[in-house]
Amino acid sequence: MSRPFTEPPKKHLGQHFLHERGIIGKIVQAVDPQPGDRLVEIGPGQGAITFPLLDRHRALTVIEYDRDLIAPLTEAARAHGELTVIHRDVLEVDFTALAGDGPPLRLVGNLPYNLSSPILFHVLDHAAVVRDMHFMLQKEVVDRMAAAPGSKVYGRLSVMLQAYCTVTSLFRVPPGAFRPPPKVDSAVVRLVPRRREDIGIADPGRFAAVVRDAFGQRRKTLRNALAQQCDAATIEAAGLRPDARAEQVAVADFVRLANLLGQRSGPT
Ligand code: SAM
Repeated sequence: MSRPFTEPPKKHLGQHFLHERGIIGKIVQAVDPQPGDRLVEIGPGQGAITFPLLDRHRALTVIEYDRDLIAPLTEAARAHGELTVIHRDVLEVDFTALAGDGPPLRLVGNLPYNLSSPILFHVLDHAAVVRDMHFMLQKEVVDRMAAAPGSKVYGRLSVMLQAYCTVTSLFRVPPGAFRPPPKVDSAVVRLVPRRREDIGIADPGRFAAVVRDAFGQRRKTLRNALAQQCDAATIEAAGLRPDARAEQVAVADFVRLANLLGQRSGPT
């Protein structure tokens, strides 16, 4: 007999377990696993997405931090397919090593919301071995990730994510789809890392610093926000107006500005 999931959900691990079958089906459909894909789920919990994915794909690797979930998950998975469980903090997982010489990883996860940004940036460090990601996040975060210039929520997260990935907000998920329900709406987002040659960022550290400073004080003009890094002439040379504000500047323009700054001042 398999061991049941008896532990109550742990708040500090962001445990909100999905139970709404329609939503789970939509996630599996969005991932649409194909033969030969290497699927990795972050935070499988009690297997809400894991088992339906296994039924479709037969093999899956999961990364789960909560020790109490490991045995019941492993046992329950036997009826569905071949589950490889990595009992670890996802922030310590080296995705490049995990991918090895195999196919690029397809990541899936209803992420713990308290850790969603660190997880996103950790995964992006390994973007070269990731084919795509389907993540459930707070809707407000997904809206910021997918926002276009000029939108109220366009900011640092939008620029940093869109510089490295194609971002598509797929669908909204109401709190009632989870146990216990979170206080906020959620949404599923698809992220597809862009090819290195298409990204065109010469120095990722400088790019991140320009974006950080530009959005540091939202109401400042570029000229003032970036005063430590460059003068108005450099901003103009990158094709931008020094009196523009960061929320009006497109991702490609941030890339051009950071690259030009690098050419003018040498490596960071
Ligand atoms: N996938 C399940 C579902 O949809 O019902 C659970 C989702 S729950 C929102 C987040 C999951 O991430 C939990 O199982 C939690 O234990 C796990 N988790 C939290 N922090 C983690 C970490 N640092 N590394 C790996 N897993 C973590």
